[in-house]
Amino acid sequence: MDPDTAARFGPPFAPAMGMVPAEGQVRLELKGRHSRINPLPRKPPHVIAIYPGSFDPITNGHLDLIQRGSRMFDKLIVSILRNDAKQPLFSVQERIEMLNEVLHVYPNVEVDSFDGLLVDHAAAHGATVLLRGIRAISDYEYELQMALMNRRLGPRIETVFMMAHEAYSFISSRLVKEVFGLGGNITGLVPPSVESRLKARLLNTRIKGA
Ligand code: ADP
Repeated sequence: MDPDTAARFGPPFAPAMGMVPAEGQVRLELKGRHSRINPLPRKPPHVIAIYPGSFDPITNGHLDLIQRGSRMFDKLIVSILRNDAKQPLFSVQERIEMLNEVLHVYPNVEVDSFDGLLVDHAAAHGATVLLRGIRAISDYEYELQMALMNRRLGPRIETVFMMAHEAYSFISSRLVKEVFGLGGNITGLVPPSVESRLKARLLNTRIKGA
């Protein structure tokens, strides 16, 4: 690597590359670099993350992300978006109950719901991180758009993406509901308590429809 490129990386990197640039050169570069970057607050001592979603219902894919996220952040708030336009299978109250049934074993995970802007919800909780999952390229475009919009709305809140576990990357709430509605086996795709609720819901619908 040439000295000019090494100098651009600044003092922590340039010596490691065996390129110690002239002092004046580094200072000049650092000044220029910092003048282009918006100053951000330092890392808070207690990092709170929000994992937003519909969770209609929670699947083992969500659960895997929550479990891994709970090891990364001091507090993780799993928050249901209240979205009347989506016509969910389970009401927000039912989804809160389902999440609590599954997540009570994680001491630093909480359940909440929100409407309005996600960044406002995050700020109200003192959260500095939004956690999202990426299953396939098809998730990426939408997630990127959301992350950039949220950065624009709340520049101090960072979106963190976690790759889905390969065992769960094909699972979505929508597909689980579809397969279950057609009589398919969903054991292992959702927590057992969720499977029971789905069975009860299906039975209820059939009885009502009979
Ligand atoms: P939304 O309606 O916001 O897509 P979801 O509850 O379906 O709500 O998803 C919430 C987040 O969880 C999204 O970032 C989504 O990509 C991620 N997610 C959904 N299913 C899985 C899975 N099987 N593995 C990993 N992440 C997932």
